[in-house]
Amino acid sequence: MFNFSKKLIDWYLQNKRELPWRKTQDPYRIWLSEIILQQTRVEQGMPYYFKFVEAYPDIKALANAPEDDVLKLWQGLGYYSRARNLHATAKKVAFDFNSEFPNTYAEIKKLKGIGDYTASAIASICFDEAEAVVDGNVYRVLSRVFGIDTPIDSTPGKKEFKALAQQLIDPKDPATFNQAVMEFGATQCKPKNPYCLHCPFQQDCAAYASGKINELPVKQGKTKVRDRYFNYLIVLGPSGETILSQRDKKGIWRGLFEFPLLETEKPLKESRFRESLKNLKLPGVSSAVLVDDLDVESLVALTPEAIIHKLSHQKLHVHFWLLKIKDVSGLQTSSFEVFETYAVPRVIDRFMEDFDYKRYL
Ligand code: SF4
Repeated sequence: MFNFSKKLIDWYLQNKRELPWRKTQDPYRIWLSEIILQQTRVEQGMPYYFKFVEAYPDIKALANAPEDDVLKLWQGLGYYSRARNLHATAKKVAFDFNSEFPNTYAEIKKLKGIGDYTASAIASICFDEAEAVVDGNVYRVLSRVFGIDTPIDSTPGKKEFKALAQQLIDPKDPATFNQAVMEFGATQCKPKNPYCLHCPFQQDCAAYASGKINELPVKQGKTKVRDRYFNYLIVLGPSGETILSQRDKKGIWRGLFEFPLLETEKPLKESRFRESLKNLKLPGVSSAVLVDDLDVESLVALTPEAIIHKLSHQKLHVHFWLLKIKDVSGLQTSSFEVFETYAVPRVIDRFMEDFDYKRYL
């Protein structure tokens, strides 16, 4: 077999991007960057990395932060379970391990929110352990160079690619090898239009030779996406009061704040929606208050077309409505200013960027 590892590392040393987490071996910072970069592009994740390092310079500072503050800082990155697991793991390491990050792949992998990929990255980069990373970039590079068409989302596929990466990793410098293969997948052997003409593997690459670049890697099946229909009710009181509540501990966006929500099985016509709305419960001072019991001035549809918000397994069809009421007594109200400090789902955050409640007072 040609010397994959040497060619790869030579390419990396000449072409790598200067990224802040490449200048450190501090496991806290490497772990933070890896969690932020899961399902997130480097350009989008970088400002978050800086924000977190500034707010929480070490794992103890992160562990001692209130969860709501961590979620607020995470706002905009999505997949909030990553932030919650980050916080839980920070507490574990700070309080149970006296802030000493575990230093082996096996121990690191036991931490919450850390799978095979992240454990391999931390173990190799921080502790020189020869544990190969396998993520989407690595699947793509290896499947193309070696012409492997085993589906990457199958158990045999996962095993095969991990074993191959493990065979290829340079045991003398696993940190550089792992970073090199990820960088090569991210910037050279990209999903679309890879730079084959200026590629060190052009002579060796099975996909290039057979013209199968766009067919590799192979995935066996797409995950079924569920449609959901959300109607957010922005209640507006006479002095600019509104109502927010915190999502419970189950399902998407756990613990984030949102407007009262009416979720329906299918899209509703406006007349049906008005009818269904009457039974929506709003948080009251002593007990819940039905919309039907309020002194309503008007109900305005703010989004004629649904806003589509995609999550990994769900497609949300989101409408916002403005319910102007004449009297807020008995209701538990907030001001719109709390948006500065509360973590809210991205779809609400985006909507609020262009929404000025004062226009409707
Ligand atoms: S020749 Fe093209 S497909 Fe093959 S490794 Fe290089 S960039 Fe990827």
